[in-house]
Amino acid sequence: MIPVQGYAGRKVAVLGLGRSGRATAAALAAGGAQALVWDDSAVARESAQADGFDPVDLTKAGAFDDVAALIVSPGISHLYPSAHPVIKAAWAAGVPVDNDIGLFFRSFATQDWDNFETTPRVVAVTGSNGKSTTAALIHHILVENGKPAQLAGNIGRGVLDIEPAHDGEVVVLELSSYQTDLARSLTPDVAVWTNLTPDHLDRHGGMGGYFAAKRRLFAEGGPDRAVIGVDEDEGRYLANQLIEGAGDDRVIRVSSGQKLTGPGWSVFVRKGFLAEHRKGRQVGAIDLRGITGLPGAHNHQNACAAYAACRSLGLGPRGIEAALRSFGGLPHRSQVIATHAGVQYVNDSKATNVDSAAKALQAFAKIRWICGGLQKEGGLAALLPFADHVVKAYVIGREAEDFARQLQGLEAEVCTTMDVAVARAKADAQDGDVVLLAPAAASFDQYDNFEKRGEDFAAQVKAVLG
Ligand code: ADP
Repeated sequence: MIPVQGYAGRKVAVLGLGRSGRATAAALAAGGAQALVWDDSAVARESAQADGFDPVDLTKAGAFDDVAALIVSPGISHLYPSAHPVIKAAWAAGVPVDNDIGLFFRSFATQDWDNFETTPRVVAVTGSNGKSTTAALIHHILVENGKPAQLAGNIGRGVLDIEPAHDGEVVVLELSSYQTDLARSLTPDVAVWTNLTPDHLDRHGGMGGYFAAKRRLFAEGGPDRAVIGVDEDEGRYLANQLIEGAGDDRVIRVSSGQKLTGPGWSVFVRKGFLAEHRKGRQVGAIDLRGITGLPGAHNHQNACAAYAACRSLGLGPRGIEAALRSFGGLPHRSQVIATHAGVQYVNDSKATNVDSAAKALQAFAKIRWICGGLQKEGGLAALLPFADHVVKAYVIGREAEDFARQLQGLEAEVCTTMDVAVARAKADAQDGDVVLLAPAAASFDQYDNFEKRGEDFAAQVKAVLG
């Protein structure tokens, strides 16, 4: 645990008693602060009470008297579509609002570091898609190259739950837009921007707010090095804002598909080959084709971002290449879960939006596509141009018929449930086909979360393959 610094002997309010709220309360207590915890849900309060927490009603008048800060969990809306009433009360009382990421950055460095040979560093990854894969990949590359590293944030452990850093250690954080928007300190050494496409727009008041939330990671502390995906205008704009001139290598530009030339530092992939250019010369190259843990152009983009981040930490191209080859992929993200009679079964349950599903559909050649669920804003039209590798769709979800109707030009069978979809796809599949779960929709109409949906897919695949 990272004891929170700066609040010893003071009261700090914590809103939300999920995993991060509980870890925050414990870390505040370890730093000598008194944590006043609260959650709107009586169930959450009771379960926290059973675990030794003592909730204090933050909705009462005067709740913020003598309180030094309010720490808010990422699931609680802090501005759009509307700010939570407890947050409004903190504003009214003049109490600074922050989150666990802000606390982490103000607490991570300790006096022990004076005796370290190599100062610990933080790599923070944000973007619309590929954050988890990129963060996990950076962590994997570091560990495989014998560097001490920890992985936390939106993936795995809460940031305040990690161990205090060792000499030379690197902490890799995955940060969502909710997290970067609210944190009062954001000072990574290396900041990574994967890409930007519309998502969570209700929580950010539209695309401008969403971009602004993510950009804070690059503006607040000014990272020593920024790795930026430049395949969208927002990435190009950000990269440009951070440089002093064309040769400035504080920014490493990353692209999947475009050749990036010029005197600066860049890493790009074309036709499956990763290339690193610096000062106008090619200084590294890797053949990414056939790396089974990283299929498709979207994963090649993640590989470029991870490669660039690790290069900026001083790792050599060969060591990075070996680690890319041994990366097993993350569960529910383009993960090959079985191969039978020449047919691959791939779980991309995390493809909850149109963009990530489009990427998955481009990653394989002949696809029997299991899709459907709770649709996001904007419909499916943007997906259709990317469905040219689909042989047939097998539609699940409560609204499967409506979903199937939108898949114009594709053969689509309404299956509604996962067991039917998997059985039908398996019956139709021929040697060389890929049965791909990439729903392009949220899971909540039928499952608690995308992980449960992916697990169901894996269970049904296991059942039909015997
Ligand atoms: P995040 O943590 O940003 O949600 P993940 O690595 O968990 O990203 O991947 C989320 C989904 O997006 C998965 O369906 C995955 O296959 C897809 N994906 C992964 N990397 C990218 C990328 N660079 N661009 C677009 N989609 C991606």
